[in-house]
Order: sequence, then C-alpha cells, then structure tokens
Amino acid sequence: MIWNEPLETMPRSELERLQSDRLGALVKYVYERVPFYRQRFDKLGVKSDRIQSIKDLPQLPFTGKNDLRDHYPFGLFAVPMDEVIRLHASSGTTGKPTVVGYTREDIDIWAEVCARCFALSGAKPGDIFQNAYGYGLFTGGLGMHYGAEKLGLNTIPVSGGNTARQITLLQDFRSDIMACTPSYSLTLADALHSEGINPADLAVRSFILGAEPWTEEMRDEIEAVLHADAVNIYGLSEVIGPGVSNECVEGKNGMHLMEDHFLCEVIDPETGEHLPTGSVGELVITTLTKKALPLIRYRTGDICTIDKDPCRCGRTTARMSRVLGRADDMLIIRGVNVFPTQIEAAMVGLAEISPHYRLIVSRHNRLDQLEVQPEVTEAYYQAIGESHFSPENQAVVELTNRITHTLRDALLINTKVTLLPPGQAPRSQGGKIQRLTDTRQQTSDDRPQ
Ligand code: ADP
Ligand code: ZN
Repeated sequence: MIWNEPLETMPRSELERLQSDRLGALVKYVYERVPFYRQRFDKLGVKSDRIQSIKDLPQLPFTGKNDLRDHYPFGLFAVPMDEVIRLHASSGTTGKPTVVGYTREDIDIWAEVCARCFALSGAKPGDIFQNAYGYGLFTGGLGMHYGAEKLGLNTIPVSGGNTARQITLLQDFRSDIMACTPSYSLTLADALHSEGINPADLAVRSFILGAEPWTEEMRDEIEAVLHADAVNIYGLSEVIGPGVSNECVEGKNGMHLMEDHFLCEVIDPETGEHLPTGSVGELVITTLTKKALPLIRYRTGDICTIDKDPCRCGRTTARMSRVLGRADDMLIIRGVNVFPTQIEAAMVGLAEISPHYRLIVSRHNRLDQLEVQPEVTEAYYQAIGESHFSPENQAVVELTNRITHTLRDALLINTKVTLLPPGQAPRSQGGKIQRLTDTRQQTSDDRPQ
C-alpha cells in the first residue's frame, strides 16, 4: 500500500518543479523571519528572491548542529512561541541536546511522513502496532505514534525498554508491527530465546528499525531470529524526527526519501562541494515545508549515497543508502578511516560470536590502537567450558586470530581482538547503544608533532 500515491509516485520532473517552488518560498520565509539566516545571506550576498530552483541550492550556506546550539534554545524559530505546540530535544549522542519546535502544521506533516513510513514497512489500517521507541523528549516515540494513528493502526504506546512487558504485549495483544532500535530487536530476540518463546509463534510481520546505524548482515540475522521483515527507518530531530526516509518492504534497497518535504543532497564532508547523484558523502537536508524550525542545507553528519533510479514498489522518490557512518563518529586509526559499522559487517559471519561487541580506541607510543571486543555465543562458551575461557586457551587463541585476520582484510588495519564472555558487551536498554570508548583525547600529548 502506498499512503500518498499522488506525491510518492509523481514523475520526477514534476516533483522537482514542486521542490523548486517550495525552495523559493522557503528562502524568502527564513530571510524575513529568522535574523540568523538574514545575516548569513546578507554576508554572503545571497539574494533571497534570486533562489528560484533547486539548481540554485549550492549558492545557499550550510546550517549545522552548532548553529542550533549557539541559538539555544529557541533562537532559530521562525514563528512566535504561541504558534509552537510541541518541543523536543535530540538525544545528544554527540554533545549538548538541541531543541526543536513544531507548529500544528509541522505536527501534521510529521504524522503524514510517518504514516508513509508505516505503509512502506508493510503496515495496513487495523494492524496492531507496538511502539517501543522511547516516548519523551526523544522524537522517536511520539513521531511514530502520530504517524501510526494517522494511518489507522491500533497504537500501543509502550515506549522503550522493559523487555518482559514488551514480550507480554507481543503475546497477548498479538502485535503485527513493532518499532524499536535494531540493537534492541536483538535484545528482544535473546529474551524470547531464554524464555523459550518461538518468535515464529508471534504475530509480528515487520520490525521498523532505526535511530542508530546497522548493517545488511544484521538485517539477515534479525530476520532469521525474529521470523519477520526488518526495515530501516531514518530521521533526525533537527529535520523532523523519524520519517525522513524509510525502506519499502518490497525492495529493501535503500530508504525512500520524503522529497516533497525534504530536499536532499550529498556533499563532500571535507570541502562542502555539492556532489553528483550516486556519490558517497554527507547527507544535507533542506526542509521545504516546516514552519517553526525551517532549516537551510542542514548538515546531518550522516554518510550515505542517494539513488534516483525507479524502485520496484512503484514509488518515484529517491532512496538513500544505509547510513555508512557519521562524519563525526568516523574513526581515524593510524590515518585509515574506519566506521564502526564496517567492523560489525566483517564480524557478523562468524558463528562463534554474538552480534554484541565493544570498541576501545586508545593511543600507545604515539600509535592509535583499535581494540575490538566481540562477545562469544553461549554455545561456544559452554563448549570451551567457563573455567577454560581465557586468552591462553588454544581454541580462544585460534578464534581470536581468525577474527583479527577477518578484521584486517575488511578494514586494512591491525586491530587487537579480545573475546568477551556472553553478556559482557553493552546492550541497548531500549534507546541508542553506546559501544565505543575513545581515550585518545586524554593522551593527546602523545600525538606525533
Ligand atoms: P542525536 O544526533 O542527538 O543522536 P537524534 O536522536 O535526532 O539526535 O538522532 C539522529 C541521528 O541518529 C541521525 O543523524 C543518524 O546519525 C542516526 N540515525 C537515525 N536513524 C538511523 C538509521 N536508520 N541508520 C543509521 N543511523 C540512524
Ligand atoms: Zn521502493
């Protein structure tokens, strides 16, 4: 089912005309209403009435998370506070939270794009939807909630965490659709397994997973253990929250962008250059319709590619790839760029280790060291015998070496591998997972001159 057929299957030339009209109006809107944009445009000599086409986009300045922080909390709002009916704040993965506001119209747009996401994920009116995204300042819970109600789902606002309750609801209410983070879906799978519940006996057809990076290999694993489709959803609070893009269950080959509301481009994160379609780079989004917090060329920090080829589901909207990493969580290990997702993708094929792991980056003798700590499976641990599980054990040494080689082939760098017993790596408690410890800042004196 396509939720908004006219807009999601529009010929691309028509869509681009609509985007151009909306961009022209947006630029005038922010120039008149937000001093920050007026000053920035004036400084750069951008004439707001000259921006008439999406081709003019590269003339406009970027906006970044720092601009939101510098105008904390409401300084970039384009409407008086009595028109704002909702406030959220980002989870602050990378620092102090940023505050976002919505007018009534913005909330309607948000519900509209999230309703499209549910339809993309295979939901239909009347389905029971278990929303295990966190409710609160985080945009995940309420964003999905309004979209679900708009589509006509029986929405259960259970929020994140409390795995025992999630399982009770899955069994008793027979939820058809569930949304949570990908790492939490694995926590849930583990819990089902230890309770002796067969996921095939549950009713869930689709898990809508997002808010953190994951991999194609992890999808295979989640789909196999949970006996359901796992589809990727993407969004960020600054732009709207969840609902920026979502995969179609038919294709699962990139997330359809809601292009009538969000004008998307990919830039070189180093130079800021606007890159041609298909290039890998940082996703930059201009909100075309938002009223309270319109954003011009917002740098998401997320690395991806955009594909405009037609999709088998019949939608004409462009699709963004998985997030390959965050421009700012990219690890530079001895000069080599490494994304945590690459490490995950390399290890997923190894039968002896679980999908849970920890990463530690440190600096020794002026050299960066990446330590990867994957957790072994319960079966492997039992086979070795708890008392024999030590770095000296022959089998442990063999597996450690094998993982080290696999990682070297995938990442082109040497890593230190330390196996953890089951249950020792960080788990998602319902929200975003924190797997990385980087201690290099504290030892920056060691940095080569
Ligand atoms: P914060 O930047 O504080 O984490 P949000 O809670 O709004 O703010 O999170 C948005 C970010 O979460 C995105 O910029 C992206 O890095 C990440 N994210 C969201 N959905 C996905 C997804 N499906 N895949 C990978 N990363 C995602
Ligand atoms: Zn599709």
